[in-house]
Amino acid sequence: MLIKSAEFVCSNTHVDKLPDPTLPEYAFIGRSNVGKSSLINALTNKKGLAKTSQKPGKTQLINHFIINDTWYLVDLPGYGYAQTSKKNRSEWEKFIRKYLLSRENLQCIFVLIDSRLEPQKIDLDFCCWLGEKGLPFMLIFTKADKQSIVKSDQNMAKFKRALLKWFEEVPTRFLTSSEEKVGLDPILEKIDAINLD
Ligand code: GDP
Repeated sequence: MLIKSAEFVCSNTHVDKLPDPTLPEYAFIGRSNVGKSSLINALTNKKGLAKTSQKPGKTQLINHFIINDTWYLVDLPGYGYAQTSKKNRSEWEKFIRKYLLSRENLQCIFVLIDSRLEPQKIDLDFCCWLGEKGLPFMLIFTKADKQSIVKSDQNMAKFKRALLKWFEEVPTRFLTSSEEKVGLDPILEKIDAINLD
């Protein structure tokens, strides 16, 4: 897919105020600092589209962007920031879970995982919850340029093994580097394929 246009549409704190669900929608989510904003900017080839390094504890927003006038890319607030209070965390959960469970045009949730890390409980728990709810998701491993391909592959394999305890089939996985613009086309091709389906 060639990105011809990528525009900010709106930010929301309430699920009731989201844009009408008239276009297919793809959500991006992951732990704070996983590289989500960088990935969105690299995918859309638009620096500054998603704001990088938002401070934890700030208002948590669902950000909608419209791509090629045909689909929504949704930037969801990051989870699991150590400094975020318990109250903030449970608000995040309610708000995001409500969005994920109720958004009828949501085609796929891309869960971002830091490829440098061994499987983290918070990421595995979130994937399991998506699985339990029957929500379609895929995994995007980020920051591949930070270590050898062997190390990234090892961490991806460990994550896969951990998920296999709960899932018969492991979701599609992508290995990416926003810094080096690697592994991005397969994600856009996958979105294209789902949109055409
Ligand atoms: P977010 O909190 O998930 O939106 O994460 P950001 O996109 O703000 O990235 C967090 C930090 O990781 C920033 O310092 C980015 O420059 C860095 N980062 C993000 N993606 C990559 C990547 O692919 N390679 C490298 N080397 N650094 C990255």
